[in-house]
Amino acid sequence: EGAAVAAGDVVGRIAEAPAGALLPAHLHVQAAVPGADPPPLATPAEAAGWRALSPDPSPLLGLAPGTLVAPEDDPEALLARRDAVLASVQERYYARGPRIERGLGHHLHALDGRVYLDVVNNVAAVGHSHPRVAEAVGRQLRLLNTNSRFNYRLIVEYAERLAALLPPALDTVFLVSTGSEAVDLALRVARIATGRRDVLAVRSAYHGWTGATDEISTSIVDNPRALETRPPWVHVVDSPNAYRGAHRGPDAGARYADDVRATLERLAASGGAPAAYLAEPLYGNAGGVELPAGYLAEAYRLVRAAGGLAIADEVQVGLGRTGEAVWAFEREGVEPDVVTIAKAAGNGVALGAVITRRELADRFRDEGSFFSSVGGSPVSCAAGIAVLDVLRDEGLQENARVVGAHLKARLAALGDRHPLVGAAHGVGLYLGLELVRDRETLEPAREETLAICDRLLELGIVVQPTSDGYNVLKIKPPMCLTQASADYFVDALDHVLTTGW
Ligand code: PMP
Repeated sequence: EGAAVAAGDVVGRIAEAPAGALLPAHLHVQAAVPGADPPPLATPAEAAGWRALSPDPSPLLGLAPGTLVAPEDDPEALLARRDAVLASVQERYYARGPRIERGLGHHLHALDGRVYLDVVNNVAAVGHSHPRVAEAVGRQLRLLNTNSRFNYRLIVEYAERLAALLPPALDTVFLVSTGSEAVDLALRVARIATGRRDVLAVRSAYHGWTGATDEISTSIVDNPRALETRPPWVHVVDSPNAYRGAHRGPDAGARYADDVRATLERLAASGGAPAAYLAEPLYGNAGGVELPAGYLAEAYRLVRAAGGLAIADEVQVGLGRTGEAVWAFEREGVEPDVVTIAKAAGNGVALGAVITRRELADRFRDEGSFFSSVGGSPVSCAAGIAVLDVLRDEGLQENARVVGAHLKARLAALGDRHPLVGAAHGVGLYLGLELVRDRETLEPAREETLAICDRLLELGIVVQPTSDGYNVLKIKPPMCLTQASADYFVDALDHVLTTGW
């Protein structure tokens, strides 16, 4: 301290990071104006003063001026630029959200210096900025990133690893980039295999933005005109929601299945037959609602009896998130003909898949070939393999089971003291807390839910509403959520429900 150094002098050596450290060994370099005594640490709110005392250190390291300077934190200015350049339907959370430029584990870091608990990001399933995913992707980007028509190890290894997680009959994999593509392709597989076009889809669901997936999506939150604008090949069946749907008792599963049967009968009466029945095995868009007992098994049986296929959309709920099983369909005791995955698969790196039986996939030959420029690329497969490794090595499915059960029990207990709490839905770390104005009429507490989300943001929690009533807090955090963080969330919510929003 206090010594002068000349260019080229060794000022120190960086040791190896200790085993298990989240960050690599690294060096902080800070410049100071002569005579100034800049603080060793300052909050981002103090950035302007700090910069006056500690100028840009980039040139000291031979870097272009500005390289190491943190961006100015002006969320409003950035939002104005965003609104000017992006399509307005490309929506964002919060009217005035913080500027979030980093994430780690189940936390998000904003430029205003605050750290937020992330309750909403199921895409970052193994945690934000996971070092093993970052390392695998970075390494592969430096080696090779080509397309699936070439012969390379990672696409084979990833497809084998994925198929090994599914029932033995589901042994054939198509790799794509997103959930929308996966569901779109699953529909095509079913249509080609059956030679039919018609599809049964569940009311209030969301399955993607591509032409075909948009047409089977009936969530009125995502598209207020969804129900009026379905094309004739889409047959919407009742939303199997035993909390607020048409059937609520112990026989709800059978009653909702009756609607599937009636829909198939109407289709048959008009000379048609189904290519597929498609649903999420845990009803994500409705707010993590568990399907009533026996419903999915009967729906699958009925559609198969009519010659159609059963497609499980596991884009949101698969890969261990439910805690009890790798796939949500396992909890229902069913085996689909086609499964779609994405989101968690690449932990945010574009990767999705359709998995089906060999004989169904082979029918695709009738329509030539299948190719996706990025789906199954070496980099996306490296990400996918790293995600599967982390899920296994860090026991994240088990964590989802244990922390999820604790969290759900605590959320449900809020209902003992807060009349607004209607129900705690879901399983593992795919949960929904439904807020209602009246427990008899179940009137959705839509405005309250939005206001509570805004208030929770002030308390350091990122959570958002879902469902057609927009009155369910969707709780699908990174699967590394700790019990302490789950408690922090429930305590903050309890506080908001007690003190107002
Ligand atoms: N299926 C389900 C159930 C989804 O929730 C989503 C996205 N929310 C999709 C498909 C589409 O996935 P993506 O956004 O990756 O296209």
